[in-house]
Amino acid sequence: MSLYKTEAIVLKSNNLGEADKIITLFSSDRGKIRAVARGARRPRNRLAAATQPFCYSDFLIFEGKNLDSISQCQIKESFLKIREDLEKMLYSTYIAELVNEFLPEGEEDKAVFSLVLKTFYSILNNLDIELTTRVFELQFVAMMGYMPNLENCSICGGKLTEFMIYFSPEAGGALCSKCVSKIPAPYGDVSITPGCIKIKKATIEVLKSFLRISLTNLRAIKLPKDIKKEMKQTLRIFIDYHLNKKLKSLSLLNKITLNN
Ligand SMILES: [Zn+2]
Repeated sequence: MSLYKTEAIVLKSNNLGEADKIITLFSSDRGKIRAVARGARRPRNRLAAATQPFCYSDFLIFEGKNLDSISQCQIKESFLKIREDLEKMLYSTYIAELVNEFLPEGEEDKAVFSLVLKTFYSILNNLDIELTTRVFELQFVAMMGYMPNLENCSICGGKLTEFMIYFSPEAGGALCSKCVSKIPAPYGDVSITPGCIKIKKATIEVLKSFLRISLTNLRAIKLPKDIKKEMKQTLRIFIDYHLNKKLKSLSLLNKITLNN
């Protein structure tokens, strides 16, 4: 049996048998890995702490025929303060679920790994949690190959000059009002078109800047509530359209962020 060393973040943990866990790890050089952590549910077990959600560690792993098995681990950052705070915990669970759902198994992606790690550090260090999540969502889906068109109208290619414009994941991104009115009913009627929303052009401008922003620069940014709400809606319908699945973590997260 061969042994390998890798640094990784815990995305998910499932109970196995009486005392074991199956851990989904995101490794910097091996991508998504599933591995058994034997005895990890026993309080004094040496794997118990490092197999907690979001924990970032160096792992020594046995390569198995069907499933790998964790041999040793050395914690680099436990992210304990995230797990002790309900809001931070729910946002981070959502981020981990998003990564787990989009990422294929066994494909290295250093840029995504770095983004996920920086996002957890930003949440840990009390950066604006909502804006941090928006930056993560947008940069992550773009890295996964789903880049919304924020530059011009996704149908006619014209400049977006109006104060209010539209956004449709099905069309690929932003739309001008002329094109929306040309879409035959019922799709032309935005109020009954699933997935097409009316938003301010200013929201698209902020999203464009978020594509390139570094998370550490978020401290300086203050945005009006309506823009933040539209960014949240825009990214939600875009991600849901491409994922085509409801995320489990969203129902609880939506409850605590109802007023945002
Ligand atoms: Zn158009």
